[in-house]
Amino acid sequence: MAAKPIVSEAINCLRNIQQKNNFLNAFVRISAGQEVREQALAASRRHETGTPFSPLDGLTFAIKDNICTKDMITSCSSSMLADFNPEYDSTVVARLKNSGAIILGKTNMDEFGMGSHSTTGFHGSVKNPCSSQLTAYSAGGSSGGSAAAVAGNMCFGALGSDTGGSVRLPASYCGIIGFKPSYGLLSRRGLVAYANSLDTIGILARDVRSAQSVFDCLNEHDPADPSSLGNCSRRKIENQAISGSPAANQSRQWTIGVPLEYNVIEISPQLKEAWISTLAVLRDLGHRIKSVNIPSTRHAVSSYYIIALAEASSNLAKYDGVQFGPNTVAASETTDGISSPLQLVAAARGSGFGEEVRRRILLGSYSLTSEAMENYFIHAQRIRRLIKEDFDKVFSTSNPLSSSPGRNVASETGVEFLISPVSISSAPVLEGVALGNGQGVDSYINDVFTVPASMAGLPAISVPVHGPGDLPIGLQITAQYGNEKQLFEVATLIE
Ligand code: GLN
Repeated sequence: MAAKPIVSEAINCLRNIQQKNNFLNAFVRISAGQEVREQALAASRRHETGTPFSPLDGLTFAIKDNICTKDMITSCSSSMLADFNPEYDSTVVARLKNSGAIILGKTNMDEFGMGSHSTTGFHGSVKNPCSSQLTAYSAGGSSGGSAAAVAGNMCFGALGSDTGGSVRLPASYCGIIGFKPSYGLLSRRGLVAYANSLDTIGILARDVRSAQSVFDCLNEHDPADPSSLGNCSRRKIENQAISGSPAANQSRQWTIGVPLEYNVIEISPQLKEAWISTLAVLRDLGHRIKSVNIPSTRHAVSSYYIIALAEASSNLAKYDGVQFGPNTVAASETTDGISSPLQLVAAARGSGFGEEVRRRILLGSYSLTSEAMENYFIHAQRIRRLIKEDFDKVFSTSNPLSSSPGRNVASETGVEFLISPVSISSAPVLEGVALGNGQGVDSYINDVFTVPASMAGLPAISVPVHGPGDLPIGLQITAQYGNEKQLFEVATLIE
């Protein structure tokens, strides 16, 4: 980026935040303008002297409020963590800062990442930048604040988190790129856990190349994160990518799979039209389109909600009002005297967590009881394994993490990518989802297309395509584990 635009771009973003944030409610904390200007000026000088720290030097970023930042409260949009001021930067934020990126603030979300419309947090709902004063649309969730910040030109890019679709869904509703990397590639150190085995840091950007440059900057082994992929496996992935690349100046013909199970009746006609016409464009470009079957994905949402909620109930057990949350011990000493420890913890959790989080903790705890474990949790884990195997069967390359090659039946007749919608429709009206939120299984239907890749730990990207309606529509491309390089390539074809 040229030197001068860095300062004016940063100032532009600050101005947009000032003008739009009251309405959109995307940012919940904003960095001091003076500091931002100074950082932009310093970055601009580095560019002028030809010594930028990285390609991201001087670019502005928003950070979802469940990613720890040293100098800013990290609340996860929960009153449980309303005053939580982490003593350290998460690894991804530290890497951004070391690359010269400028952090503009923290963004609104569903409480602890639980939701699909950014309505369950204590900061109130986020509005989609496509909204008008008359009609407010959902920004998607749970990283709705990050998506609205990018789509509203309030920052260059943003970090979110994606457990079952929380980056891809808001990106689709807001008309931007939302990228969930392979599980284990980006460090989770400092990401407040919702469901450890599914949580990934995700990237929101206005175009594919920008998302890729952020990914390249963050994609490194982190010894401080036990789930971070080791260097040996990373090398294996790189070698696989090199051997799969076409020779120089030879353009690649991809085989792109369309999962038949994703063709559900609930998909809106506009979305179906956009899906079909994108496939036609790819075919005209010389790529092969092939229908495939991933039968076990039919059970992906139900098993996701068992695994995610079980892990969440365990992760959220630490919020008891002693170290984190409303200090009911102190309150009881000044008001109605001493209560039993159990009552104090119950009071802290009752007032600190919102309704959706309490519901999920109860369900998650139940599925881990001895009475329910076999029928729910163990069964869901079995389905998760089947989903992984089904994906491995359709891809033409084998899963580099598969320990038993015999099970890994990648074939030459397989596909390189899968293409599907991200959600069943474009952004719904906010009022409708706020009312429906948590009041039935309907509110979970939005996760049908995004959850399978999360269960299998695969990389997936949401790309806006030109739909026939006024609101943006996103299509999702999913690839084999570790195949982000080619995923970005094919994504540029349809953006
Ligand atoms: N909507 C899903 C859920 O509520 C996904 C959320 C996420 O990815 N954080 O669990």
